[in-house]
This record gives sequence, C-alpha cells and structure tokens, in this order.
Amino acid sequence: MKRRNLIAGLGAAGALAACSRTPSADCAQSSTNTTSKAETLEWKMYTTWPKNFPGLGTAAAFLAEKITAMSDGRLTVKVYGAGERVPALETFDAVSRGSAEMGHCAAYYWKGKSPAAPFFTSVPFGLTGQEMNGWLYFGGGLELWRELYANFNLVPFEAGNTGTQMGGWFNREINSLADLKGLKMRIPGLGGDVMQRLGVTTVNIPGGELFTSLQSGAIDATEWVGPYNDLAFGLYKAAKYYYYPGWQEPGPTLECIINKDAWDSLPADLQAIVSQACQATGSQMLAEYAARNQQALESLVNDHGVELRAFPDEVLAAIRDASEQVLKELVAEDAFSRKVYDSYQTYREQVRQASALAERAYLNARN
Ligand code: CA
Repeated sequence: MKRRNLIAGLGAAGALAACSRTPSADCAQSSTNTTSKAETLEWKMYTTWPKNFPGLGTAAAFLAEKITAMSDGRLTVKVYGAGERVPALETFDAVSRGSAEMGHCAAYYWKGKSPAAPFFTSVPFGLTGQEMNGWLYFGGGLELWRELYANFNLVPFEAGNTGTQMGGWFNREINSLADLKGLKMRIPGLGGDVMQRLGVTTVNIPGGELFTSLQSGAIDATEWVGPYNDLAFGLYKAAKYYYYPGWQEPGPTLECIINKDAWDSLPADLQAIVSQACQATGSQMLAEYAARNQQALESLVNDHGVELRAFPDEVLAAIRDASEQVLKELVAEDAFSRKVYDSYQTYREQVRQASALAERAYLNARN
C-alpha cells in the first residue's frame, strides 16, 4: 500500500511538471495530453542491453530512430546502454519514477516486483514468438500486462522478440538425467529453477562474462540466446555441444516501458506513433533473428565444427514436468499472478492444438 501511495504522489508531481511547461488553460481541464503539437520533446530511453549489442541493443536503437523519424523530430529519443545512467536491472524503477521516460528491457527481469512478470517475456514450455504476439494482441495478454504495470506507474508495449532460443552450450554430452546431476550451468530465471530440481547447480552470470566462465571451467554449460547472438560471443570456442530445443525461452518478448505521466502527456498522434513504432520493432526483430540465426548456425556448424545435439526425450519429459511444477508454485500465493497464469494456460492449450495442425505438421512434412 505504501508503494501505491508513493506512486500516486509521483504521478501528481509528474502531471504538475508537465503542466508548468504548457498553457494553463489546457492544464486546468485535464492532466493528460498537456503537450501541444508545436512543442518538441526529448525523451531518454534506458536499456538493459549493452549499447548497440547485436539484435537487442540495435532493436532499442531502431525503436528510438523510428519514433524520432515518424514524429518528424517532435519527439526525439536518446538511447542509453546498460550502466550508462543506471545499472541494467534498475531500468524498471528508473522509468517508474520518471528519471527516464522509456525503457527497453524484458519483463522477466522484474520477477521480484511481481511473480506474474515472466509470463510477459517467456516461461519454460510456453508460447513461441508468434503465439506470444497472438496472446498479447488478441488473447487478453496486453490488457493484463497494462493492469499489472499500472501499479508501477508504467505503460508496457511489446517491442521485440528473439524467436525460439537454443537449449545452450555444454562441454559434455547429455544422454540421460544422470548427466545433469552436478552440472554447473548458467541459466537464469525460471529455467534455472527448473534445472535446479533436476540436480543442476545454476548460476546467473551477465552475458559479457559467459565466454571466460565457460572456458575457465567455472561453469560446464550455459544458455544465452541463439546462433546469431551466441556466435557473436564466441561460445563455440569454449564448449563443443550445442543443444536444442530452447525449452527455457521458446519466444521471449522484449518490452518498451513508458512512464505513465510521460505517456499521458503525449498528444494522441504521438501516442499512436510510439505504439506503432514498438510494434514495428517487434516484427522487425523477429524477422532479423529468423534470417541471422540461419546464417550464424551455418557458420557454427561448417566453419567452427560445432556439434548439434537434441536433448533426449527422457530428459525433456522430466524438464517439462518440473516446469509445470515451477509455474504452479510461482503463482500459488498471488491472486493476480493466478489470473495471468489462467489466461496464459487457456490460450496455450488452444494454440497448442492449432499450431500442431498447422506449423508443426507442415514443418514435419517439409523435412
Ligand atoms: Ca536465454
């Protein structure tokens, strides 16, 4: 409750600050849409990625450029990489209190704010990228996301997706469940919780330290993203086996979060531009990963001798069972998380059947 009061107070202060820049007549009527069409705005975007990191940082740059271009410079956005103004994982709080107007990040980093947060990025054995967009835009997901983030004075948008990730890099083969026992793996989030149940010692290491950790033997395995990003980090030099599928992140959504006072102060046309620029970033990124993953995979296998391996059925089945338990326990004590989980699960069950008849059947036939 204290937090809500604090946020309400900040909201009022934010509206006040916006009013002080604009004609008083508009402000007397409403605290929203206080920016006139003649006014130009400069927004800051904090991100959880290194600046211009392939695919992730470049998506944030794309979003900023599109907003600036489509608004003809009425709203310019300056991007800050992780750590430039605040540490990566303080982006959420910084945008919530208005230190920056926008952030480009991933909701599962904010599990500590709400156990429901990971559902808006990716959960083990959850939705693929395209299915995720279906849930967000047509299955009630975005409304639930907005309802959750309203508690934090934020408005969230879908603004990116890496597509299905890979299972990760292993320095030894995984032939049975016994091979997981005692393995030391970097796998953050819910995927890590799942692996722990199967006897894996999990650690969370920032992306930039993965290569040295794997090469020095500090860890035996790591997941990162997929061929495009994993090739860039040179992970193939430190581990021989590249496992699939990426059950832990089957289609992670990236988010653009906007401070609610900043959002409310935008005229309707700039709101439409920001909203559409986010959606354009989402489809652009999914397309980019589809193309670049394929090129990178070819290079990993043909130029670098990487050995591809599928997780054995027995291992995947155990991971799937553990995943269901982790999700159920995650939402057990929080009513809103239960509501999100129910919506997500209902949609997943429906789309699972449709995807099996369409994409899966077709892909099997093509192969
Ligand atoms: Ca990952």
